[in-house]
Amino acid sequence: MNLNNAIIHLITGEITLQKKELLYEGKAKKMYLSSEEGYLIQEFKDDATAFNGTKKGVIPHKGEINNAISSFLFEYLENYHIPTHFVEKLSSTEMLVRKLEIIPIEIVMRNVAAGSLCARYNIPEGTIMEYPVLEHYLKDDKLHDPMINEYHAYAFGHANPEEMHAISRIAAKVNAILKSFFDRRNLILVDFKMEFGKRGLEINLGDEISPDTCRIWDKRTHKKLDKDRFRHDMGGVEKAYAELRDRIVNS
Ligand code: ADP
Ligand code: UDP
Repeated sequence: MNLNNAIIHLITGEITLQKKELLYEGKAKKMYLSSEEGYLIQEFKDDATAFNGTKKGVIPHKGEINNAISSFLFEYLENYHIPTHFVEKLSSTEMLVRKLEIIPIEIVMRNVAAGSLCARYNIPEGTIMEYPVLEHYLKDDKLHDPMINEYHAYAFGHANPEEMHAISRIAAKVNAILKSFFDRRNLILVDFKMEFGKRGLEINLGDEISPDTCRIWDKRTHKKLDKDRFRHDMGGVEKAYAELRDRIVNS
């Protein structure tokens, strides 16, 4: 379901917001300009990709599930004073966000060993780590998102030390908040990816927080409720996404 006009409440009061032209189409979302300067409409697609875009598919209803989960979690994080781009959920697949100047660095937080970490350091999947690991990857599909450190970010002019410090602080806080949120729902937040951007001098958490960008396991059975089911053809992808949505949003 797509919107043409939406009544929204910005600080300026009640206004009618219109969806304007497509600004950018990515692998999982479309970003549209809106009639309000500085605000974008983020539309979640059912398209799924893995292994740097080499594996492609469609997960039915993923767009609405990821919008529901992301909207819920951004709102939840706002209660803990995490600065995010989220304004409001506009429709089943659309979210109103503040336009950010995205810093092209993917921040990955890990609590339990999985994915590329296991291969890189020869650590068995499922190893609980004594301290969360924060990693930086350059957001560049052509280079396959190589791992970098903070000094690369300064050297390449992507962010200064003060901004990187703010990002690390917010990332650690988001991890602590979400880890205990999931734990209370008998879920394990294994790892997840975040993107940050600048709005004036402020650093905001942007993009999405969804089963496309997180690894989440059932606490008791370790059943995977995330994109690993799609990556590794495990079946039951749509069902797992829907189960996760229900366990996050409806409990
Ligand atoms: P990709 O570009 O990796 O294929 P998506 O399909 O998720 O990813 O596209 C969404 C794009 O929008 C990403 O490039 C992301 O960095 C960018 N983005 C996310 N939030 C914002 C925001 N608030 N303002 C501007 N750009 C954003
Ligand atoms: N991730 C992501 N986008 C990326 C790379 C990773 O959302 O481009 C997420 C991924 O879903 C997982 C975490 O970041 O929750 C860590 O991913 P990992 O480095 O293990 O990479 P993978 O092996 O999954 O590509």
